[in-house]
Amino acid sequence: MPYPSIDITASSIKSQAARLGFDACGFAAAVPVDAVATARYERWLEQGHHGCMRWAAGHQDLRRDPSLLLPGAQTVISLALNYYPARFQPPGTLRVAYYAYGRDYHEVLRERLGELSRFIEATTHCATRPCVDSAPIRERYWAQQAGLGFIGRNNCFIIPGKGSFFFLGEIVTTAQLPPDEPCRLTCGDCGRCVEACPAGALSGDGAVDATRCLSCLLIENHDEVLPHWVGTVVGNRVVGCDECQLCCPHNRGAVPTTIEDFAPTPAVMTLTRERVQGMTSGEFKRTFAHSAISRLRYKTLRRNAALTSDEDP
Ligand code: SF4
Ligand code: SF4
Repeated sequence: MPYPSIDITASSIKSQAARLGFDACGFAAAVPVDAVATARYERWLEQGHHGCMRWAAGHQDLRRDPSLLLPGAQTVISLALNYYPARFQPPGTLRVAYYAYGRDYHEVLRERLGELSRFIEATTHCATRPCVDSAPIRERYWAQQAGLGFIGRNNCFIIPGKGSFFFLGEIVTTAQLPPDEPCRLTCGDCGRCVEACPAGALSGDGAVDATRCLSCLLIENHDEVLPHWVGTVVGNRVVGCDECQLCCPHNRGAVPTTIEDFAPTPAVMTLTRERVQGMTSGEFKRTFAHSAISRLRYKTLRRNAALTSDEDP
């Protein structure tokens, strides 16, 4: 049977991605990451701004070259899935970042990327490797190269007209697909997120200092005690921080997700300090078994809750 033309294959992959609920899909040639983006990442590491995220310093060779993730790779397919909530936590609950409202996004993305990978393999007879935080890949870089949007001063990925409340996933494939035009937009002279960050974690050049970012400190840092200043700015945030996204003008047009898996769970809708303090480790495991909150660990959630105040920033 003759193979379909490259253009028909490309458009059928994008149509299938849309059928699977992805809000954006683009292609980039799987060549090594450019020198500017590599130097920027190395500088961030040298400055120690990755903080407790020690994993960020590992596998630099794989991070630079996607063909080391899949021999013969020709294309990085970048995909985005909207998680902007349709319902929000009520007053009086401890604040959870939107990304952790519902079912663990790793599970949701893995299922959908897996389905798209099988479609690509069946259509192109080429190999695929789906990635959702499962491989060292520069996902925002690739999303920009694939034309989905740009990296903001808050270091989040912004899709013009749609905002930044999107999960990103990639499929590296040996299929040669026509690359999309990289996105050249920037934040321009806006600096709202730099002003709005309660912890002074944004320098304005697009890098985040993870040693100051509340999101990193509350989620990735599992030390028994956090620096004293955290308690003075954390307010009622217990899992992550969305401040630099909420203030971003690109999120004015955010549309609620239709993916029911991302709707806030009953546990998130009723998460008070008292509830966390009264929770046993077994309850934590059962309650958050399929939630990204499970990655925080029981002790870290309790440490965070103890730091919070009633102030709703
Ligand atoms: S997540 Fe919060 S603390 Fe981190 S950079 Fe954004 S606003 Fe600042
Ligand atoms: S708030 Fe302004 S500077 Fe920050 S990411 Fe959004 S557009 Fe860029």
